[in-house]
Order: sequence, then structure tokens, then C-alpha cells
Amino acid sequence: MPLLKRLLAWFQPDSARPLTQAWLASAWMGVLANWPLWMHLQTLPGIGIGFTIAFAGMVIAATGAVLSLLAWPRLIKAVLAFLLLASGALAYFIGAYGIVFDPTMVVNMVQTDVRETRDLLSWRLAASLAVLGALPAWWLLRRPAAPAQAAGQRLAGNLTSFLLALIVMVALALSVFATLSSTMRNHKSVRYMVTPLNAVYSVSAVGVRSLSGPKGPPVIIGADATLLARPDGSKPPLLLLVVGETARAMNFSLNGYARPTNPELSKLPAHSLHSLRQVSSCGTATAASLPCMFAPQGRADFDADKPQENLLDVLQRAGLAVLWVDNQSGCKGLCDRVPNSFTNQLPAGAAPLPPGLCDGEECFDEALLHELDKRIAALDPARLQRGLVLVMHQMGSHGPAYFKRSPPDLKAFQPECRSNELQKCPREQVVNGYDNTLVTTDRLLARAIGWLQGQQARFDTGMLYVSDHGESLGENGLYLHGMPYAIAPREQTHVPMILWIPADGALAASLKPGCVKGLLDQPASHDNLFHTTMGWVGARADVYKPERDLLAACRR
Ligand SMILES: [Zn+2]
Repeated sequence: MPLLKRLLAWFQPDSARPLTQAWLASAWMGVLANWPLWMHLQTLPGIGIGFTIAFAGMVIAATGAVLSLLAWPRLIKAVLAFLLLASGALAYFIGAYGIVFDPTMVVNMVQTDVRETRDLLSWRLAASLAVLGALPAWWLLRRPAAPAQAAGQRLAGNLTSFLLALIVMVALALSVFATLSSTMRNHKSVRYMVTPLNAVYSVSAVGVRSLSGPKGPPVIIGADATLLARPDGSKPPLLLLVVGETARAMNFSLNGYARPTNPELSKLPAHSLHSLRQVSSCGTATAASLPCMFAPQGRADFDADKPQENLLDVLQRAGLAVLWVDNQSGCKGLCDRVPNSFTNQLPAGAAPLPPGLCDGEECFDEALLHELDKRIAALDPARLQRGLVLVMHQMGSHGPAYFKRSPPDLKAFQPECRSNELQKCPREQVVNGYDNTLVTTDRLLARAIGWLQGQQARFDTGMLYVSDHGESLGENGLYLHGMPYAIAPREQTHVPMILWIPADGALAASLKPGCVKGLLDQPASHDNLFHTTMGWVGARADVYKPERDLLAACRR
């Protein structure tokens, strides 16, 4: 009988016991913080209330299993307080924006900056945090100290609880196996919606990766980088690479969008301006796309866990001047070894940023053009004589506060959503705010081209613009970006890429007439950026692959 007695005692709810706290919190988070998941499941075909209840049971059992192992006095309260708050936040973001939480999202969060985070804050988030997170956490922290128990006994109890949870989970899974396996296969995003296990899994995965990842200097690539000889009397190249932010190809009027989102660029002579319409991104978030865009490997072979040099290192080694100017949260390590600065860090002797361009914390992208000549004058003159690759990293269309990314004189599409809670605005207002950011980018690019034209006496100029990833604007209830690539919608991976090759320049003269126009509807991707840039400025290295250079086939 002592065994039965002990089992019965185990089921006696005593909220001072760590195991009881673990299970109460599992049930709370499993049922309440997963409300977006329960809503989502109801929209999938062939899923009824019976499956949803069984799935909820599995979520609670799985959470309880993990937490049973952590059910030690004091430790459990800290773990649960953290997880409850995380669940409150996750429930809001998954419910409001349709995002899912995977390891890439953790990397994005770590690399983001304060103003990007502040754009996401809202009263609804505060309410979700308070009700789903803070309230139960407050209750939990007020429970009395755990009753004394020998460590061995507690361990046995925790392991029993863990095993029972696994048995329940397997039994529930078997009871709905057919639906479960097809749902998991066809709707991969479901697994990243299970709160808080998505956070536990993703944070651990990133933690393990960063602990086990190789440290030390990045692997050298393109050690043999050189420049091709230029004909006598020719000018050195000046290529402006504009790294766009969150611009999606389908909203560019240059690509057929019905609204005039490219009013300035469309005025330029069509033989110089080429908008590639079938370009896909390497990732669905800045932190994933940027390192991959500047690597020679391409999406299929790029390994973010192996630090290596990038395009800018290779160009610099070839002898060119390189400069990165940033109007966003930084270059994700890409510009660590080349001259770089933020828009609000001005070179010596520069005029202050004109009022209206910056509000003290954030600048409109046109600040990228401010005092560029002085920024360039500070570079190594010997390198400048060989050529310059200038990178501008835009704030672009970074959401959800699109309305902050266009100046007052470029708000043609009205009314704009003025909230960062996009789902509260009618969809047209979200699109209006977003399209205004594209008009802002359009003017930036047109003015950048104007500036390049002013450099033509000294340099042979050109521009390549490409966005880092796209954006969801409420299609299928999805907002923002960052979906795992395999299940990401086209809106998040289909990006604009624009080449400006002036007709009177040396590059245009080296290309077969009309050839670039034949590329406009050919599939292209971020995989082409490294090689196209190398080819454009006449740099060569063992890592350069002409078959990935978009312009190589067009050269005479
Ligand atoms: Zn981005």
C-alpha cells in the first residue's frame, strides 16, 4: 500500500510543490498562450475539435515533461516566471502578425536594435504580457517555499512525472495519428507555433550552435584576388551597391505593379535602367540574407555557422576602395574589415545633417547621400585610383511602422496605417503605408543615380540595387517577414533588383546591345550578387564563378 499511498500523495495538488507548479504552468501556457495555434488549426482542412483537444493535451504533456526535469525548488520558479512572460509575448506576436518562432527568429532578435524593437511595442502586447505572463508569474512567485524532500526522492518524483507525461503524449498522438502526421507534414509552421516549446527549442538550438561554433578569425576567401588590367585612359569603376530593406518585387511599378511606386526611376532612359523581375532572396530576414548575399557560395551551400570573409574583403584585397554607409542596425559583421560608418556619423568638416532628415535617433534613407564626397575623400587615394565599391544599407521599408519610413512630402497613398499594430488597420492602409516607403526608396535611388552622374568625370559609374527579403502585408493573415524559408510565401522571398548601367559608360560599351533586356525575366537570385559585383568592377579571384555573374554572358 505505501506505493499507492505515495502515488495518491503525488496527485494531491499542493501549489508549494515544484512539480505541481510545473504542471499548473504547463496547462496555463499550453491552453491559453497557444490561442493563435488553436485558431490556426481550425482554419486547416480536416481538423475538428477532437483533434484540437488531443493536440492541446499533447502540448501540455510535452511542456510538462520538459518542466518536470526542472522541478527543483527555486529553479522552477525562475524558469516558469521567464517562460510565462515569454509565452505572453509570443502569443501576441504569433496571434497578431502570424509569425512563427524558430532559431532564425532568435538570431534576428539578438541582432536587432532598440528602435526596431520599439516599433513592435504596443498596448496589446503589454496586455498579453500582463494577463498571460505577469499575472500567473506573480501568483507563482508568492507560493510558499517548497516542502522539504530528500533530493533522491525529488529526483524519483520528477522522473516519474516525466515518464508519465511521455506516455500520455504518445497515447494521445496514437489516438489521432493519421491527422497528426498529415498536419505536421503539410503545415510545417504549426510546430513553430507551439508555445513555449518553440522558444525553448529555438533558444537552445542557437545556444548550442554559438557554443560549438568555431571561434577565431574568419576563413580567408579569394586570397588570390586581383584586378583585371584597365585599358589606357579608361576611368576607374565606381559601383554603388544599394542593399534594400524589406522591399518586395511585386509592389514595384517597374515590375508591373498598378500603382506608381517608381515615379522617379521610370523617368530614366530605359536603355540604362534594368529591373530584374524574377529575383529570389537568400533568406527571409536581414540576419539570414545579408551574410549569404555577400558570400560566394550561394543559398544552397552557404553555412552561416562557418565565419568567413565576404565580397567586401575580396574587393579590398583586389586593391579597390570599399566603403559601407549604414542607415540601419549595422552590417551584420560584413563591413568589419573595411571603412564603414553610420549615416549620423559624419566625416570631418562635413555640414550637419539638414533638419527633417534625422529626428535625433533615426534618419530617412536620403541621409545616405549627405556629404558622400567628403566620406569618399577620406578613403585611401591609391585605392580610389583603382576604383570604389560603395555600399549603402537602407532602412527601406522596415516594418511594422511603415509610416515612419517615408517623409511628409512622399505620402501620396492615403490614408496610411499610423499604428504599429498592422492587424488593427484596414489592409489598404497597411499597403498605403508600405507603398509610400517604396516611393521613398525610388527617390533615394533616383537621387543616388543623379549623384553618380556627377562623378562621371572621374569614375565609370553604375548602380546595383537589391532588397534583402520581401514582406507579407496581410496575405493569408501573415504580416512582416522571417518565415522559415521552406514555408515562406513568395511575398517574403521575391525581391526587386535594379541595375543602372549608363549608356555612355565603359560597362555598357562592353556589353552586347540589348542583351541585358533579355535577362529581365530570367530567374536570378542573391546567389548572383557576389559574382556580378566582381565582374562589374573587373575583380577576379578563385571564388569568382562567371556562370553566376549575371552580366558575363552579355559581354562581348
Ligand atoms: Zn531585412
